[in-house]
Amino acid sequence: MRSIPLSMQFLLFLGLQLALSVGLVFYLNALADSNYQTIQRASAGFVESSKTIESLRKAFAQTSADIEQVVNTLRPGERIDVRTQVVNLQQLAAAVRTDVALDNLRTAAYSQINQLSQSIDHQAQLLINAAAKTATAGPAEVRDLQNKLRIERNRIMVDDFSGLISAANSNLEDTMQMLRGSTASVSQQYRTLLILFIILQIGLMITALLYFNHQIKQLADITDRLIDGEATAALPQQKRHDQIGRLARSVQHFRTTLITLSDSREQLKAILKKHDHETLHRRKAEKQLTLAASVFDNVQEAVLLTDIAGHVIRANQAALDLLKSTEKQLASKPLLQHLLTGSEKVVEPLWTQVLEHGRWQGEVQFKPDSYSPPITALISIKLVGEAREGRGHVIIVLNDHTEIRNREAEMIFLAQQDLVTGLYNRHYFSLQGQTRITDRPTEIFGLILIGLDNFKAVNDALGHRDGDRVLVEIGRRLAKLLNTQDVLSRVGGDEFAFYFSPRNGEDLEISTKEKAEEVLSIIRQPIQIDGYNITLKASAGMSLYPNDEDNIEDLLKTNDIALHMAKTRGGNQLYIRGTQAQNQARRRFVLQQALDKALGNRELRLVYQPQVSLASGEIVGFEVLMRWRHGGEWISPNEFIPLAEENDLIIHFTEWAFTESCKRMREWQRQTDRQFILSINIPPRLLLVDKIDQRLDAIARKEGLPLSSITLEITESSFGSDPGMMSGQLHQLAMRGFTIAIDDFGTGYSSLAYLSTLPISKIKIDKTFVDNIYNNRESYKLLGSILAMAQTLEFDVVIEGVEHSNQLLLLKKLDVRLDVQGFVFEPPQNEDFWEGMFINNKVPTYPVPEIMSTKSLKPSASS
Ligand code: C2E
Ligand code: CA
Ligand code: CA
Repeated sequence: MRSIPLSMQFLLFLGLQLALSVGLVFYLNALADSNYQTIQRASAGFVESSKTIESLRKAFAQTSADIEQVVNTLRPGERIDVRTQVVNLQQLAAAVRTDVALDNLRTAAYSQINQLSQSIDHQAQLLINAAAKTATAGPAEVRDLQNKLRIERNRIMVDDFSGLISAANSNLEDTMQMLRGSTASVSQQYRTLLILFIILQIGLMITALLYFNHQIKQLADITDRLIDGEATAALPQQKRHDQIGRLARSVQHFRTTLITLSDSREQLKAILKKHDHETLHRRKAEKQLTLAASVFDNVQEAVLLTDIAGHVIRANQAALDLLKSTEKQLASKPLLQHLLTGSEKVVEPLWTQVLEHGRWQGEVQFKPDSYSPPITALISIKLVGEAREGRGHVIIVLNDHTEIRNREAEMIFLAQQDLVTGLYNRHYFSLQGQTRITDRPTEIFGLILIGLDNFKAVNDALGHRDGDRVLVEIGRRLAKLLNTQDVLSRVGGDEFAFYFSPRNGEDLEISTKEKAEEVLSIIRQPIQIDGYNITLKASAGMSLYPNDEDNIEDLLKTNDIALHMAKTRGGNQLYIRGTQAQNQARRRFVLQQALDKALGNRELRLVYQPQVSLASGEIVGFEVLMRWRHGGEWISPNEFIPLAEENDLIIHFTEWAFTESCKRMREWQRQTDRQFILSINIPPRLLLVDKIDQRLDAIARKEGLPLSSITLEITESSFGSDPGMMSGQLHQLAMRGFTIAIDDFGTGYSSLAYLSTLPISKIKIDKTFVDNIYNNRESYKLLGSILAMAQTLEFDVVIEGVEHSNQLLLLKKLDVRLDVQGFVFEPPQNEDFWEGMFINNKVPTYPVPEIMSTKSLKPSASS
């Protein structure tokens, strides 16, 4: 097979098929032919013998008629000549015995033929006898002879001939029966052969198919493996001499070529890669060098490079400006000795620390020369390379914090103050209380909260200016009642509070109560303003440390409720903490339980408050805020967020809010084609979660919101527990691309110098700093100074809680780049509200005031 060409193999196969078919046709034909001839023969024989029998019968009938005629003329005593008839009869009998036409019947109808010939012979004998007798016979005898002949003749006609005919018929039937059987067997054979033939054909076809298929598949498999790169695949068909063999050899050749080709391609690739890598490396290094040089020259920070002993080798322009020296002057002695004149003793240990630990950071104060004011700077020292055998370098970076420190001092002073009365404000007051409890936990005291009854009416009647004067007078009267250690504060618009310490041995409750009553009575004394006598009434609440609560926050809360109770009972009275405080505690407990299920019960909702550009009135972004609807009541986030923050619940809440709001913001961005910023509140606890940056990043990525559109709002209080960890997390978050904003800026007491080391780019100035800018010049000045500082640190600024349009104009005058978030534009609204707005791509623009002339812009003066 292997040497016969493929086409010949096909022809051979076809030939075999043809031969088989022809053989079968011939065989079947012969079978049918022989059958046909047998039938032919049988029917011809039958016709011949039937004809002969019929002619014999006719001849016998004719002879019998002749005999009858002769016999009828018989007369007694007369002689008759019957020789002709007898001869005829004898010839007939002989014909029956010998006629060849009856040969085919001779075996099957032997007795019938015999019987017929004997009967005819017998008739002939009878005739002879009759002829012989007539001469002597009487008439009766003649009649008897005549009858005998007639009867015999009839018997022969009826019995013997019929017997022969029916024997012939039955012989034919037998033959036919036999033939039918043989025809059936022929057709049976025919069918069997045909089936066998078809099976054989199919078998042959399948064999051929499998054979060729196997050969081609083997080749295809190997070609596939070859394409897959399997170089060792062997081709057994190569040895064949047919076309498959040729194909195999071609594939083999192709394979060898391919292997060679791919080898050389790999080599080429490796060479190219190496070349690319080297070029890239060199370019990168060059670029980095240029970049480093340009960074060194252009950064705002003062950067100096010193040798291992601290002598300046190079200083950038910012450093020379800050230190008011030339490089040469600086090189005269170690840099730290320039900076720390007067405290040389610390220089050496400090430097040793740098050499040992590789870095040092701290704040220093120095005077560049005797005429300049002192400069406060954050100094960061870092050793480059290893300090060995006098080699190695040190980089020193100086950040000028002078401005920040000055502002800070100013702010701290201002932040503690109530600008109207000069008393402490609420923040400072609670801070003081907290410190007092922490420092002297065993020292008992009472907390008294006083609220002026119906002060609004006074304000409305006299105007804010005189209203403020009333407040100042009340403050003055209260201050006179107090001992030196009792801190007095104006904690709200018309509310004052102070800590009261009883004298030694006095009962705390009784003496606090007496003090509160005294306060109410001195407030009731008339106040003289511009010749008017004003009489005010007040209500008070009181609570005791440690009897009622063990912390200021709760003492204040208890008092808030007590004051509220006093007012709802008509005012002008004192309400002593009582069941209200306990109710509060109970409510806290109940809410805390319910809060666990709030997310699962779908009780939490999100609302979005826009942040609006003061320059254009356009929405730049949204802060997402949480709402809790529980038992038919909307519970303020100020109440439930602190509860959630007590455990990990706040983490689930925040992740939920983050996911939902990212999704929503992405939708709105698509819908409106605007790059809205999403601001979200990040609780301190979340910043303690491991890899929180990855988690938030993954969520934002999943929802398709770019990190550049996300601002994370954190409060300064976040840094309380673990500043190092928080700072690390914030850097991670900022590095990923999140914007970090300080929320409620100004209400905490973080050092600005510290904040400036964090990756913060935005601050949100608390509502309390803008509430009074329209009425109070000091407030306005304070805000101005905060904004100036934000500018120095290059923070973006959002002003929160702006409620009146008259505040807007003043804000715009301070800085048009501000963004504003407040009821003046829009309170927080749910997504249905915003989606309704965005139908047909319509994004609302809010009216913002235009700055016309500078004169009318001054805030109205007070006090
Ligand atoms: P926040 O982060 O300082 O949010 C701003 C609050 O000021 C919101 O109160 C807002 O409704 C309110 N506000 C905005 N404009 C004005 C205005 O013109 N006047 C007045 N009076 N208020 C204004 P809200 O929604 O009641 O939230 C209170 C605080 O609860 C938030 O203060 C935040 O600390 C906390 N909070 C709210 N939602 C969330 C949240 O989803 N996660 C976390 N961690 N805290 C949240
Ligand atoms: Ca916030
Ligand atoms: Ca805020």
